[in-house]
Amino acid sequence: MTNPGFNTRAIHAGQTPDPTTGAVIPPLYQTTTFAQDGIGKLRNGYEYGRGTNPTRDSLQTQLAALEGGEHAFSFSSGLAAEDALIRALLKPGDHIVMGNDVYGGTYRLIDRVLAPWGISNAAVDMSSVETVRTAVTAGNTRMVWVETPSNPMMKITDIAAIAAIAREAGAILVVDNTFATPYLQQPLALGADVVVHSTTKYIGGHSDASGGAVVLNDSGMAEKVGFIQFAVGAVSAPMEAWLTTRGLKTLGVRMDRHSSNALAIAKWLTGRSEVERVYYPGLTDHPGHQLAAQQMKNFGGMISVSFKGGEKAARKVAESTTVFTLAESLGGIESLMNYPSEMTHASVKGTELAVPENLIRLSVGIEDVEDLISDLEQAFSSL
Ligand SMILES: *Cc1c(COP(=O)(O)O)cnc(C)c1O
Repeated sequence: MTNPGFNTRAIHAGQTPDPTTGAVIPPLYQTTTFAQDGIGKLRNGYEYGRGTNPTRDSLQTQLAALEGGEHAFSFSSGLAAEDALIRALLKPGDHIVMGNDVYGGTYRLIDRVLAPWGISNAAVDMSSVETVRTAVTAGNTRMVWVETPSNPMMKITDIAAIAAIAREAGAILVVDNTFATPYLQQPLALGADVVVHSTTKYIGGHSDASGGAVVLNDSGMAEKVGFIQFAVGAVSAPMEAWLTTRGLKTLGVRMDRHSSNALAIAKWLTGRSEVERVYYPGLTDHPGHQLAAQQMKNFGGMISVSFKGGEKAARKVAESTTVFTLAESLGGIESLMNYPSEMTHASVKGTELAVPENLIRLSVGIEDVEDLISDLEQAFSSL
């Protein structure tokens, strides 16, 4: 078929029925090694599990098809994917410019693991194109790292504008597309060189499999990333890859529901007297609303909200819900509640990336939205 749509690709890319039995769902190849028909005579190139595994290949084909990239690599976690990418493409002496509200673990990896190995960084406000232009010093900056919408402040970055700045400076533009997912946003089409994911979140979508991914077009970069994936070995395990593939097939329908539930909740929150500010790009008064409407298909399932009653009120609400579960992570079918300053973003406390203490972050699931709103109503009544 020529030009199949997103959901058709999600369900069929890399998912050819098993040639031996006709099993409609490609089997889980829970194996570490493969029989050879004579020394070096491999069957379809399969040799050893760290190098290649058919279940991982199937996920990689599916991921590439959905992000519109030529090559995809699957890893054991989002951070393993990021580490492999940076070590594959940069060397000591290189400089990274990243958003000043990137995922806390990304900041920790770049600033505390990679900096001692000679890769310097600057964290800047990515939603300001002029600030990024100033920070990217041509020749020295080799990589620009964008997360949009950002976590947890939900800032929107203009991917096409930053891509132009990066290209001019000879730097690689990486977009962490975890929050938006390829269903809502296509960074490669907007000019990014590389997309990274924590597939642990929306792509897997069921909070039961950790993983990460790198997707890109350039074959020279792909060869380097593939070499690190093999030589370092932080690959996704067959079971995790299989579960991620299963989850990914329903990404489109899930994101539609996450987005409509989140918009209804964001509107409800906006009308509450306890609330200081609602951070959701789907609200027309969000500073990045116009841009998000241009570069995204919809606004996704993540909302942050700050309280007039300060840290005390935020903590109280976070600990009072019954349908929203107090837990780290995001992007699953179930709604989660997070207090970033002590949970997901504890690693950046006291740094320039610190998150306000009166803020909670909601990962809005796909339950019935009336139940989610009454749960919040009930939690607010404790204030
Ligand atoms: C969770 C997350 C990561 C890290 O992924 P892991 O799978 O936890 O290693 C990176 N970026 C964003 C935006 C995330 O939410």
